[in-house]
Amino acid sequence: MSKLHVIGDPVLHSKSPAIQNAMLAALGLETCYSARVVKRGELPAFLAAAKAEGVTGFNATMPHKVALMELVDRLDDSARLCGAVNTVRVEDGHLVGCSTDGDGLVAALESKGAVIADAHVVMLGAGGAARSVAAALVRAGARQVAVCNRTPEKAEQLCAMAPDILIPESFDIAALRRRCARASVLINATNLGMEGCGQFEDLSFLNVLDDSSLVCDLIYHPAETALLRRARERGLTAVNGLPMLVWQGVLALEQFLNTSLDRPAMAEIALRSLAD
Ligand code: NAP
Repeated sequence: MSKLHVIGDPVLHSKSPAIQNAMLAALGLETCYSARVVKRGELPAFLAAAKAEGVTGFNATMPHKVALMELVDRLDDSARLCGAVNTVRVEDGHLVGCSTDGDGLVAALESKGAVIADAHVVMLGAGGAARSVAAALVRAGARQVAVCNRTPEKAEQLCAMAPDILIPESFDIAALRRRCARASVLINATNLGMEGCGQFEDLSFLNVLDDSSLVCDLIYHPAETALLRRARERGLTAVNGLPMLVWQGVLALEQFLNTSLDRPAMAEIALRSLAD
C-alpha cells in the first residue's frame, strides 16, 4: 500500500484526507492519505523520511508552502511562478514540487461556466493564495487582472511576476468600482468575510459588475459570506472556496498518480465526501 500525506501545523482539521481518500476509493486504489503534523523545524527530517519510507507524495499547508521551494529537488512552472509549493510527488527518489491551488481555482471557475481566457478579472488581496491564483490566471490566458490590495507594496510585488497582465490597484471603493465596471470575474482572496477577520464596509462595487459576471470568494467557512450573498441576490453566479479546495485536490491526485483523471467526475466525488 502506498502512502500519501498532508503535512502542516496545524493540519488535523484539514479536509484533504476526506477528499483524497474518497477519490482513491472510487479509483479502487489501495493508498492511504493521512494528515501528519510536521512543525516548522521538522520539515527537512520529514523530507528525508518520506524518501526513505517510500512515500508517494504529499500536500503541504501552513507553514511549509514557501520553505519547500528551497528544499525540493525540482520545481515545475506552477510553483516557480507563484513562489510556493502545495503538492510534492516523489519521483525516482527525487522530490518534485508544484502548486495546484491557483490551477484548482481556475478549473473550479471554468466548471461553473466562467471563461478566463481573454477575461478582465478583479482580484482582491495579494497574499499567498492571491499569488497562486494570479499565476494561474496568467497561465490560463486572462487579458488583465487588477490586483487590489490594502497594502499597495504587496500588490506591486505580486504583479511583478507578469507586469503586462497583472495591474496593481488600490483597495478604495472608487478604484474597486472602476475596475469592476470592466470585469467579468471578481475573486476575493482577502480574509474579509471570514469569522473574526472583519467585513467589507462597502459592497457597492458589486453593483457595477455585468449581469453575467461570476463572483468567487476563496473563503468556504462560512459557506456564504456577505459578499457572496449580495452577489447571489443581485443574480450573479456566486462561488465559495469549496470548489477550489476540491479541484486543487483533483489536480494534486493527478500529480501523485502521474496520470490524467476524469476531473469533473473526481471533483463530484470529492465534493460529495465533504457533504457526508
Ligand atoms: P494571507 O497570505 O495572510 O493574505 C491575506 C490577504 O488579505 C492580504 O492581501 C491582506 O492584505 C488581506 N487582508 C486581510 N485583512 C484585511 C482587511 N481588514 N482589509 C483588507 N484586506 C485585508 O492569506 P492567504 O493564505 O492568502 O488566504 C487568504 C484567504 O484565502 C483566506 O480567507 C483563506 O481562508 C482563503 N484560502 C482558501 C483556499 C481554498 O482552497 N478555498 C486556499 C487558500 C486560502 P494586506 O496585504 O494589506 O495585509
